[in-house]
Amino acid sequence: MKIDTKNLKSFIPENEINNLLKNKVNSDKKEVQDIIQKSLDKNRLNPDEMAVLINTQDKDLIEEIYEGARTLKEKIYGNRIVLFAPLYVGNDCINDCQYCGFRSSNQDVLRNTLEMEELKNEVSSLVQKGHKRLIMVYGEHPKYNPEFIAETVRAVYAQKVDNGEIRRININAAPLDIEGYKTVKAADIGTYQIFQETYHQETYKKMHPRGPKSDYLWRLHGLDRAMEAGIDDVGIGALMGLHDWRFETMSLLYHTMHLEEKYNVGPHTISFPRIEPAIGTKLCDLPPNQVSDADFKKLVAILRLAVPYTGLILTCREKVELRNEIIKFGVSQIDAGSSIGIGSYSDKNSESHKKSQFVLGDQRSLDDTIRELCEANFIPSFCTGCYRLGRTGEHFMEFAVPGFVKRYCTPNAVLTFLEYLEDGYASSATLKSGLAQIARELENMPESKGKENLIDRMNKIKAGERDLYF
Ligand code: SAM
Ligand code: SF4
Repeated sequence: MKIDTKNLKSFIPENEINNLLKNKVNSDKKEVQDIIQKSLDKNRLNPDEMAVLINTQDKDLIEEIYEGARTLKEKIYGNRIVLFAPLYVGNDCINDCQYCGFRSSNQDVLRNTLEMEELKNEVSSLVQKGHKRLIMVYGEHPKYNPEFIAETVRAVYAQKVDNGEIRRININAAPLDIEGYKTVKAADIGTYQIFQETYHQETYKKMHPRGPKSDYLWRLHGLDRAMEAGIDDVGIGALMGLHDWRFETMSLLYHTMHLEEKYNVGPHTISFPRIEPAIGTKLCDLPPNQVSDADFKKLVAILRLAVPYTGLILTCREKVELRNEIIKFGVSQIDAGSSIGIGSYSDKNSESHKKSQFVLGDQRSLDDTIRELCEANFIPSFCTGCYRLGRTGEHFMEFAVPGFVKRYCTPNAVLTFLEYLEDGYASSATLKSGLAQIARELENMPESKGKENLIDRMNKIKAGERDLYF
């Protein structure tokens, strides 16, 4: 049940943010370099430091920011990229978000909610491509209540196709009350993700004129309630293009600090989608504060440095070339082979784009994405080990526990990727690149007991065992 939000307060200090952005200008080289070093020494940055980086205009210094973000990524997270796919369950919606193809006033979109049978067909298509991790996405509607979300999640986990199955499901849906979160948590979800869209209250009001989403504070405190319900794995985000990206990026840091202070754990992931074209939605053709590619790159690098232990998600909304470039700055998860029409993985009919929320910039298949990742020396990972072993806050561990990536993440990436290749999901070209990438990973590992254990498990996978992880 939705509670009264009169007593809630915003933890986004708009004036303070604006003042920092206005005043932290013309910093000298040493100050910028010290801030980058603070991040490389594994410290979260403070808002004033983030404002300095945001206001850096000198080309060489911006290059140093990129270099810092790249170094942080390489030294701490290594070269693995976790892959997932979005699964849209239903696009009925009682909100009227001005940028979204699903908004209630949009007459051009075809409304649909997957029936159980259709949901199974979608999962079957995804599993047959080799996917193991999903984010399930729902419009906001009374029929997508917590019981419905839990039921659909359980149905997806229950489905097996040959050796394949979905092993982790994250959720992107409306904010719930505490009871609702408990119901969804009981279905064993991973991350619960809610984007504030814009943290700027006046812009928020304009963009969300009707429906439950028009309540800024209910949404802003949405993940606090998730934490209180025991979901300690949450994802935040801002939709870039509504208000000034500098303000939104600062606000993402304040949101992180709020969760850290209150619950001792920050968000697991941060997303920073840019507005994409959407059917029947003029606003998307010219967003009020469109973010250029150059600014987008800068904001990702700055976020990487500001919250070094938080996962960053880059979606198929972005074009291939830009994605390839930005992945190097410290993105840890990408979606691949995505299709965002309702039912569009299994039913490729020409109408499915009319059920889509927006248009994707990267339409490569999972197979092509994987091959190109390997060719660029990344190791694709379908790992779900930490979450299933109760090692929550996995990004924090990767970051904070010395040797964690070497001991767990890289071997688990190798095991889950080998399983993908052994199960025949890859084309012959991808199989070849994939095996070469696995060989490179092994070559780069010093001889040790850990490497022996990995090779032992790899042999078990080749002999037919599945779902092995450290
Ligand atoms: N209905 C739920 C909500 O609004 O939180 C969850 C699903 S909504 C479909 C997921 C996200 O898609 C939104 O939070 C928003 O950031 C993003 N989105 C909406 N319209 C978009 C567009 N035109 N381009 C890119 N992302 C968009
Ligand atoms: Fe509905 Fe979410 Fe789209 Fe808003 S963003 S119209 S709440 S689906």
